[in-house]
Amino acid sequence: MTNDNIFNEKRSKLVDYLKGAGITNQDVLNAILDVPRHSYVDPAFHPRAYDDDALPIGFDQTISSPTIVAKMTQLIYEDNKMKNVLEIGTGCGYQTSILSKLFTSVTTIERIKSLHLTAKKRLSDFNYNNITFLHGDGFHGHKSNSPYDAIIMTASPNEIPSGLVNQLKPSGRIILPLNINGSQKLFRIKNTKNGLLKKEVDDVLFVPMLEGVS
Ligand code: SAH
Repeated sequence: MTNDNIFNEKRSKLVDYLKGAGITNQDVLNAILDVPRHSYVDPAFHPRAYDDDALPIGFDQTISSPTIVAKMTQLIYEDNKMKNVLEIGTGCGYQTSILSKLFTSVTTIERIKSLHLTAKKRLSDFNYNNITFLHGDGFHGHKSNSPYDAIIMTASPNEIPSGLVNQLKPSGRIILPLNINGSQKLFRIKNTKNGLLKKEVDDVLFVPMLEGVS
C-alpha cells in the first residue's frame, strides 16, 4: 500500500471513530475526511496524525485533537447558510482548512509570525482561496471583514473578549475555551436580541490566549 492509501484508510477510520464520539453533522465529517491532517505536522508525527491526540506544531503550540476540532466546528456550523467565520489562533492551519470547506469566507488571525507565514504558504499550496490570513492579536478581531456568523477561538482567554462580541452578527455564535480560575471550560455563546446566551459544553485544555504579537 502507498503512504497515501494508508493515510486515506486511517482518515476514514478516524471519521468512523468521530461518528461514535457524537459527531453527527455530515458536512463536518466530510471535511475531516477530505483534509490530510498529517500534512499539517512534522513528518516525525505522521504515524500519529490520525490518532485522537493533540500534537506539537512548534513554538510550544499544538494542533488540537480531531475530536475537539470536529466538536467545536459542529457547535458553530449548522448548515450551509453559515457564510462568514473568524478564527483566532491559526496555528498550523488545520482547523482553518476545515472551516474553509464549510464557510463561504474565513478570516484567521495568528500572533506568532512564523506560524502565520507557514500556515499561509501551506494552505495556498493546497489551493484554498477563500481565506484571509492575518498576523496580529486576535483580541481585536478584524473589523473590516465583520460581521461574522461565527467566531472560533483556539486559545484560552480569561474572559469573553468584548471586542469580538461586537463583530458578531445579531444571531452569530462564538465557541471558546474560557479559563475560569485556572480550569478551562468550552463555551458556546449565542448572540440574541436579549443578550448573550451561554452554554457550557465540556472541560478542555488549550494553550492560553496571549496579548500582542511575536
Ligand atoms: N487551530 C490551531 C490551534 C493552534 S493552538 C491548529 O489547528 O493548529 C492556538 C494558537 O493560538 C497558537 O498558534 C497561538 O499562537 C495562537 N494565539 C494565542 N493567542 C493569540 C492571540 N491573542 N491572537 C491570535 N492568535 C493567538
